[in-house]
Amino acid sequence: MKKVAAILLLALFLVLHAAPETVLAETAMEEEPIVIVLDPGHGGSDGGAVRTWGGRKYREKDLNLKIARYCREELEKYAGVEVYMTRQSDTYVSLLERVELAAEAEADLFVSLHNNADYKASSRGACVFYPNSKYRKYLGEYGMGAAAAIQNRLVSLGIKNNGIAYRDSGNRTKYPNKKTADYYYVIRESKLRDIPGIIVEHAYVSNPTDCRVYLSTDEKLKKLGLADARGLADYYGLKKGTDTSLLSAESRPDGSVSLKWKRAKKMDGYSVYRRPAGEEEFELIATLEGEKTTEYTDNSASAADLYEYCVRAYIVGNDVGRYTAMSDVLEAARVPAPLYLTLEITEGGTQILSFGSVEGADGYVLSRRTGEEEEWTPVAELWDGETSWIDVTAEPGVRYEYQICAYIDTENDRITGSPCFLTDSGQVTEEQ
Ligand SMILES: [Zn+2]
Repeated sequence: MKKVAAILLLALFLVLHAAPETVLAETAMEEEPIVIVLDPGHGGSDGGAVRTWGGRKYREKDLNLKIARYCREELEKYAGVEVYMTRQSDTYVSLLERVELAAEAEADLFVSLHNNADYKASSRGACVFYPNSKYRKYLGEYGMGAAAAIQNRLVSLGIKNNGIAYRDSGNRTKYPNKKTADYYYVIRESKLRDIPGIIVEHAYVSNPTDCRVYLSTDEKLKKLGLADARGLADYYGLKKGTDTSLLSAESRPDGSVSLKWKRAKKMDGYSVYRRPAGEEEFELIATLEGEKTTEYTDNSASAADLYEYCVRAYIVGNDVGRYTAMSDVLEAARVPAPLYLTLEITEGGTQILSFGSVEGADGYVLSRRTGEEEEWTPVAELWDGETSWIDVTAEPGVRYEYQICAYIDTENDRITGSPCFLTDSGQVTEEQ
């Protein structure tokens, strides 16, 4: 039985140590989050389409904002996504300001959320507009993919499928390459800023059935927002996950740093990072597989140098892996415990404590307690270079325990290593 267990352990060890590289070698990891700018159409003095059906007033600007909020809430549950909104409330924002906000956010996609209206009350259904391919063709393709994914999700709610489309400018508006521009301002101006822009027309405010079935309650608007978010998740191959937070980074007696973090649900693993304190760039020091792997021991940092650690979870999507946001940063240093602490009692009853120094330590704290005490009382602070101390305050006839810790001083803090103990140290002889 023991042999079997040992073999299993060895196998487990091999799996744990071999797997991370293979997983990551097969998966391209996306370093930057996808930035999606949601643009709830209209707002403030611009109400968009307004109709009254069954005694209820449907204002497009309000519907758009609610859908956008639900969409954002859902999108933010996915790993590797950053979401911005061009307006958060019922305020007027010009079309140019909306696009400029997207450019400032370095958006990967600009998604304008609307509801349609027609002079014919019978018109109904959903459609999504994407950029034409007459200028910066790749933006047209990108937008078309996103548009199709959203439309699929909307149609699956039962909304009439009006398809996806691009629309060319009816006048002589041209792109810098003299080709016909896109009709819609936000799609055109986004394209000029190298951002694919799409417009989602969820349903018709001018159609009583669309209003009643898809727009009449918050619950129904939420379904539309969720469909948009899930469509985008389909398109990018996003997966839901949770951020992680670093709980502790501690110096261990063996001179390692032990990191522990909060388990991130639904994630596939974690990447651990380190940088010398004060530096900008983090270095990846470990990639670990499995949501349940929530600790790591760093043995490779140089002794008594201060480091900053952080961790983030990753998730493997359809084709690429994505990270959650970086956790908070914690400081730690490898401050080993002194190798030994010994006590020599001279014939005269003098207690001489000696200890093994720690390379790089700035100093040591020596503490003492009697057998009955729980708390340690610091009795001496020793500087780098000192390796012994005489306890002149020891009471005759009392048994003491000692412990010593090395520390390093940082700008804001002192980082103390684990203690080296000397228990049941012998008895101080009666003074003559
Ligand atoms: Zn509109």
